[in-house]
Amino acid sequence: MKYLIWALLIYVGWRWYSASKARAEAGTSEADGAQASGKTQPQAETYAADAAENMVRCAQCGLHLPLSESLSGSSAEYFCSEAHRIQHH
Ligand SMILES: [Zn+2]
Repeated sequence: MKYLIWALLIYVGWRWYSASKARAEAGTSEADGAQASGKTQPQAETYAADAAENMVRCAQCGLHLPLSESLSGSSAEYFCSEAHRIQHH
């Protein structure tokens, strides 16, 4: 009988976990993106492709960010902000 209780607990926990995960993906990804980037842009067009979008690395500080939010330098380098693009020289 004990195993049944454990199985039930795991099942409920798993259901709760997937529900909260789905909620987080659906609801807060826009807010998260705004917080992470600092510069807020409407994310509607990239929202669906967010997970699949290419990630690039800031050549100055090493921060990973989506390609669409990055600034590109003179060569094949990417930067998280204008300040880092200038600093990198
Ligand atoms: Zn940077």
